[in-house]
Amino acid sequence: MKALTLTAEFAPKPDYKLTERERATHRIFTGSQVWKNPQITIGQTADPTPKDDEVILQVGAVGICGSDMHMYEAGPDGYILYPGLTRFPNILGHEFSGKVAAVGKNVRDLKVGDLVTAEEIQWCGECVSCRRGFVNHCDNLEELGFTTPGAMAQYIPVRARYCWKLDELADRIGDEHEALVMGAMVEPTGVSYHAMFNRIHTWQPGVYVVVFGGGPIGLAAEALAVAAGAAQVIVFDTSPARREIAKKLGATHVLDPVGLDLNSTLLDLTYGRGVDFVVEAAGAPMHTLAPLTTSLAVNATICHIGRSEKPTPLSLEHYQVRGVQFAGSLGHAGHGTFQNVIRMMASGKLDLRPMVSARMALDDALSAFKRLESRQDAKIILLPN
Ligand SMILES: [Zn+2]
Ligand SMILES: [Zn+2]
Repeated sequence: MKALTLTAEFAPKPDYKLTERERATHRIFTGSQVWKNPQITIGQTADPTPKDDEVILQVGAVGICGSDMHMYEAGPDGYILYPGLTRFPNILGHEFSGKVAAVGKNVRDLKVGDLVTAEEIQWCGECVSCRRGFVNHCDNLEELGFTTPGAMAQYIPVRARYCWKLDELADRIGDEHEALVMGAMVEPTGVSYHAMFNRIHTWQPGVYVVVFGGGPIGLAAEALAVAAGAAQVIVFDTSPARREIAKKLGATHVLDPVGLDLNSTLLDLTYGRGVDFVVEAAGAPMHTLAPLTTSLAVNATICHIGRSEKPTPLSLEHYQVRGVQFAGSLGHAGHGTFQNVIRMMASGKLDLRPMVSARMALDDALSAFKRLESRQDAKIILLPN
């Protein structure tokens, strides 16, 4: 089968202390400290066969994520930008959907022909974190498209336990191909859903929301906030193209943050009350969260999703005086998140079609990566079959 593979040089920085396990497996916790000179190529690789608890999916659609870009892009020192769990060489792609093409002998609830999407977080179910319900923080985590083969390929093996059926979505849209394209949006939307509604239970219809970052995660957060009854959704992004998409998804205000005083802008827009719910999806907390002080409403919530390695100074005195809660959030698995996102999409309450700016063949993936370097698109979907 055809697949897109990322290769990189294993070159731990001198001050990065590899654990025994990292040295033995090359499954690296902080990829940006170890992997150098990344390269993506499209080539032929063996067709997968299912293990007993797996299904083989014929990939219908796969999105290119900001994380894919951060593995593909290197900094001035040649190291990849992505600071998370990684193992190379590997097939990329973790936001995807497909049709079941084969099932392992222990698979009970899926059959050939089912349309599904799957969690990227390959939680083990046995470690202490999993048993406490925190599957996104699994102690033995593997990540599809990061440490195990991903979906930028014609076929992918996935354990049945990570799959969620798209039948409700296909029924409602009435078109299998469209359901598969929307199915590929469930994973990134689940990341936003998990941060906003699972990590912390402070959401109330009627809140004033600010979303920093109009990339796919921020846009999905915006659309979820609109669907969940926010009274105002204010989106900041520096890209005019992304601001246009944010307008289509129902934000009440879409602004370029450059040159703005965040506190006075937000106070003006919120009748002096401040914002109740903050989503950081820009990965730039120094510019988004650090300046927020007087514009945080009493009992405000901050959801931190964007990745950023550098420490950020925060005005904790303001957090204390205003009773602010801060939730770091990672992942999308567990809690029925995929089920609920699929239902919201099927019901028409969550229409993310404005986010899909292009659909391209897998053969054109290299130019899709190139095009995304400018960060003008929201989501490019690859169609591998
Ligand atoms: Zn992603
Ligand atoms: Zn686990």
